[in-house]
Amino acid sequence: MTRTKVKVLLSLILILALVFGGGCSGTDPGAGSAPPGGQAHPVQEVTEAEPTEPSYEEPAPGDSQADDEEIADPNAGLLIAHFIDVGQGDACLLELPSGETMLIDGGERSAFNVLKEYLEDQYIDRIDYLIATHPHADHIGGLIGIVDEFPIGKIYMPQVAHNTKTFEELLETIKKKGLKITAAKAGVAIETGGGFEAVFVAPRNNDYDNLNDYSAVLKLTHGQVAYLFTGDAEEASEKEMLAAGENLKAEVLKVGHHGSNTSTTQEFLAAVSPGVAVISAGRDNSYGHPHEEVMERLFLAGIEIFRTDLQGSIVITGNEQGIISILTEADYLSGG
Ligand SMILES: [Zn+2]
Repeated sequence: MTRTKVKVLLSLILILALVFGGGCSGTDPGAGSAPPGGQAHPVQEVTEAEPTEPSYEEPAPGDSQADDEEIADPNAGLLIAHFIDVGQGDACLLELPSGETMLIDGGERSAFNVLKEYLEDQYIDRIDYLIATHPHADHIGGLIGIVDEFPIGKIYMPQVAHNTKTFEELLETIKKKGLKITAAKAGVAIETGGGFEAVFVAPRNNDYDNLNDYSAVLKLTHGQVAYLFTGDAEEASEKEMLAAGENLKAEVLKVGHHGSNTSTTQEFLAAVSPGVAVISAGRDNSYGHPHEEVMERLFLAGIEIFRTDLQGSIVITGNEQGIISILTEADYLSGG
């Protein structure tokens, strides 16, 4: 069965369970005994339920409500961003409105199994667009296994080399698979299956002192909602983006460099002006990420903050009009 079909079936079962189970998302679908006819939740609210172990039932033939043609893919038109808890590092999986997938970074090499399991749990069996923001091991380590084991569409990386075994191995794995690398730099747009736009806004230079500043920064725009993925870009790159007059406004900001005080300057934050900030950092990491100054800046700007070190993986679901839901692993585990 294709991923889309599995999701359609899963969602159909969930919708039925909600309608016949009393309509409360906290209700055990198996325990519902309320009469049918209750108010069903909008489809959008049930799309991100964790895949439990459903027993699949084919729709009854001839039932027009359950006819294949009439079941819209509940994920159609949605953009689902998974900020995966890979410990210290970054890994963001995007389920795109086109039905395609994008993976931005993959954490340390030791995070590969976590990453792989996460992708499998989401029925992801292919990465259409793979972005390695910059060659540091906490971003590309886990990508080696991903490139090796998953079918990959296009790969984007900034044009900078790094003399480490991890980086060399990633390049070798890419080469072995016969894949090519497209240079990620300001102005490069990712040609996609449509429904959204994805354009790199950095790096804007090819001579930085700091490897972090080579980070590919991606702005993804889905209708009225924009997302900014900053990798580990620091102040020098932020300044260039501002000086270039880029429209950096985004509702969701993946905070640069794990919340380090070398990134997320006041001016940059003001230009992005996000409603939601996501920090990807390791629990009790030795760098002290996220740094207090950055937390305070975000807090004073009234931005809702999510942290993988405290909340585990974070899943943001949005349509063209706005964010529909933000779920965290911590909420899920506590039943909240
Ligand atoms: Zn990093």
